[in-house]
Amino acid sequence: MKKNEILVAIGTPHRKREQGKQSPDGKLKECVYGREIASEVAVKLQAMGYKCVIDYMPLDLPKQMQSQSAKLERQRELSMRVNFVNELCRQNGAKNVLYVSIHVDASGNDGKWHEPNGWSVRVGTKASAKSKQLADCLFDAARSYGLKMRQPTQKQKYWPQDLYVLNNTNCPAVLTENLFQDNINDVALLLSDEGRHIIERIHVEGIIKYIESL
Ligand SMILES: [Zn+2]
Repeated sequence: MKKNEILVAIGTPHRKREQGKQSPDGKLKECVYGREIASEVAVKLQAMGYKCVIDYMPLDLPKQMQSQSAKLERQRELSMRVNFVNELCRQNGAKNVLYVSIHVDASGNDGKWHEPNGWSVRVGTKASAKSKQLADCLFDAARSYGLKMRQPTQKQKYWPQDLYVLNNTNCPAVLTENLFQDNINDVALLLSDEGRHIIERIHVEGIIKYIESL
């Protein structure tokens, strides 16, 4: 597959108005960190001749889409992301689009540090073979950096999960959980220059490997 035949859509995580979603010391905010990584990944892929877009860069929805109901506002955000990706699928053909949503994991939502750490990748509950293949490519890239890998079994590299953006997008789609925002060592790595570089490289290398396999 020629590199310019595939459109890479990068997904940013959450919104600033979404509660929690940050390290207990407030130094890592998932919505900010994910957008910084997404930008870097897009710039690197574009510089190498790949077509790459980001689903949503603003930190919050436009005022008229905000709501006092956190649930409603979240649903509007997720629908917007899915509509964006599915419009790309309609224009380019779903098999020529891929979606990678970039997140940072958490094991608690209580403002405290926790033990769980490591890297994982999710696919939808009815994921296509191509989604699983994309997940495998990202997993292999992450493992090559010596991160602690989280996987359901020794053979299976991805976790199926009922996530709206994975189950409702028409193209191969995965979500990466890049270490834990409530593990003190993971956060130190994520915020370091080395850690940022690793998280960026995982996505660039994993996505390229997948496109080359098509
Ligand atoms: Zn997240």
